[in-house]
Amino acid sequence: MFVDVHCHVDLYPDFNKVVTQADKNGVAAIIAVSMDLESMGTITKISNHYSGFVFPSLGLHPDACSRTSEINLTKAVKLIKNNAKNLVAIGEIGLDHHFVKIKELYPWQQRIFREMLRTSQDLNLPVILHTKGAERLIFKILDDYKPRDVLIHWYTGPKDLIDIGIKKGYYFSITPAVTYSKNVQYLVKKVGVDYLMTESDGPVEYNRIRGEPKDCKIIVKKIAEIKGYSEGKVEEVLFENAVSFFKLDLNI
Ligand SMILES: [Zn+2]
Repeated sequence: MFVDVHCHVDLYPDFNKVVTQADKNGVAAIIAVSMDLESMGTITKISNHYSGFVFPSLGLHPDACSRTSEINLTKAVKLIKNNAKNLVAIGEIGLDHHFVKIKELYPWQQRIFREMLRTSQDLNLPVILHTKGAERLIFKILDDYKPRDVLIHWYTGPKDLIDIGIKKGYYFSITPAVTYSKNVQYLVKKVGVDYLMTESDGPVEYNRIRGEPKDCKIIVKKIAEIKGYSEGKVEEVLFENAVSFFKLDLNI
């Protein structure tokens, strides 16, 4: 069985079909991550509908900082705190200095990120991080907080930071890009199987094909090949990693 630990469930126009395919392909749970205040609301509704299968992770994404006002930030923290007992994590949160080109936004982005980290610490929830182009700064900022656990999604940053992440006990989730990206393959080689998870980051496209939770299977296959373990073993370990990281109460 598989867990897709990072999926933008609100961005699929046909999410019911995505769920059917996921179900057919051994997916036992999907962690739904939010981007902004609006998606926080949608994700809460979808997770209630698929209770025990879709689990909500709420937070403000760094790419959404330009459309996040001071009032929105206050509202987001309130929404997170009011829903705390249903949440499995705070995310997708972090910094983005790659896609977000306007440098004037960076201090605001960092304030939002710090507020999200503080909230995760208050609620004793793990965090799901977006680190694109700001990996070194994020690693530094993380030292100021004590989230329950840290999961870094689709890491493609400096190679020397991977060793630091391993030492700190951070987890890394692997997308279908592992089938073609040398950077992702390198990460898989370095990080122990006990600290890896599977994610689609759907509906992001890979080689022009829409990512979906059902892709966890091909991710596990590739990880097994890189690590030289059996697929069954990798599937079992990665599943357990996700269940214990998010403390999932599954419908199975
Ligand atoms: Zn994402």
